[in-house]
Amino acid sequence: MTMKDATLCLHAGYQPENGGPGVMPIVQSTTYRFDSTDHIAALFDMPTEPMYSRFANPTVDAVEKKIAALEGGVGALCTTSGQAATLFSVLNLCRAGDSILCSAAVYGGTVNLFAVTLKRLGIECIFVDPEAGEEEMKRALRPNTRLVFGETLANPALIVCDIEKLARVAHGHGIPLIIDNTFATPILCKPFRFGADIVVHSTTKYMDGHALQVGGVIVDSGKFDWTNGNFPEFTEPDESYHGVVYTKSFGDAAYIIKARMQLMRDFGCYPAAHSAFLLNLGLETLAVRMPRYAENGRRAAEYLAACPKVESVTYPGLPQDKYHALAEKYLGGRASGVVTFNIRGGRENAVRFMDSLQLACNEVHVADIRTCVLHPASETHRQLTDEQLAACGIHPGMIRLSVGLEDIDDILADLEQAFAKVK
Ligand SMILES: *Cc1c(COP(=O)(O)O)cnc(C)c1O
Repeated sequence: MTMKDATLCLHAGYQPENGGPGVMPIVQSTTYRFDSTDHIAALFDMPTEPMYSRFANPTVDAVEKKIAALEGGVGALCTTSGQAATLFSVLNLCRAGDSILCSAAVYGGTVNLFAVTLKRLGIECIFVDPEAGEEEMKRALRPNTRLVFGETLANPALIVCDIEKLARVAHGHGIPLIIDNTFATPILCKPFRFGADIVVHSTTKYMDGHALQVGGVIVDSGKFDWTNGNFPEFTEPDESYHGVVYTKSFGDAAYIIKARMQLMRDFGCYPAAHSAFLLNLGLETLAVRMPRYAENGRRAAEYLAACPKVESVTYPGLPQDKYHALAEKYLGGRASGVVTFNIRGGRENAVRFMDSLQLACNEVHVADIRTCVLHPASETHRQLTDEQLAACGIHPGMIRLSVGLEDIDDILADLEQAFAKVK
């Protein structure tokens, strides 16, 4: 039986046994006892049950299965942060001497990880303009390019990724496409339907939804053909894992099992059962919350677009937005709750406006259940001069508004009273 998202949010991943707890329990244990050495030996061959909580745990496993079901994938691996998920998704395919191709419209943390830290590890990132044509992107590929990376709805630029275009570029080169689907969540976009092979998330944002804990996840579509000759580490014996051949032993789940058995085994950034339990509470209502975020986001964007104290608004859900057509195609027109706008009067007015808000929280977070705001020029990007800000597309008066689930009338009234306090 194939179920709809709202049902999967509640039921996928955990089916109580007869008389078992109705809610997935927190399995607070590092280890698992087995009756025989043979049983444990078999688990080393085919890791079907958790045996050690550095890389598997029943509570986390239930959440992994739920997210895999929502994305339409064959398996998932939770991590302690979105950054760790992005890192693992790349390290599972690359080693020193390889390169990756990445859309320039991605999260700042991803840019830093790829441009600085991976570079130190010998993996080079080639950034491409998301507007570049297919041929231009193909020309940027090199023989050692192992993957293409993009972000469904870029944080904070709100550029919608043309996933099908990136998929054609990647697949033409025999390599997979990885998509960061954090802002969209599988409720607004399922990247596998458009040709993505791997999806990553920062679960810290809408999935958790309540600003309780940092986390990440990698999801495998199971569709990429790792036997195409470009990925010998999937088709030749892994000596670090008693000679297993991932594609032979694990079939279409080769990628995600390799990530668990090599990377999670060695790096161990696995979430605690309690974190997964909290994440699950957020996931249970994700299908109910996302349309409301999108509705509140659209109403706020419309209000801002009509406000005389606002110079410009970026929200792909608005018909006049440059990315509206892509938002219709990939997000069904529902562009999340994040809106950016440039206030007239630059930095000074932006700060006055931010400090005048009473309901919206001034915090370094986004995609929260509560409305929050951020002023990049004086917070996340404060080390940059106005000239440097301009070079990376950030207006000194730019404000990122992340609309929460409060009543939209109250959110708009708060914006209105704060605008009244600026010139
Ligand atoms: C926040 C974020 C990340 C990083 O996630 P953390 O959970 O903070 O490590 C990655 N991608 C996107 C799009 C994000 O918004």
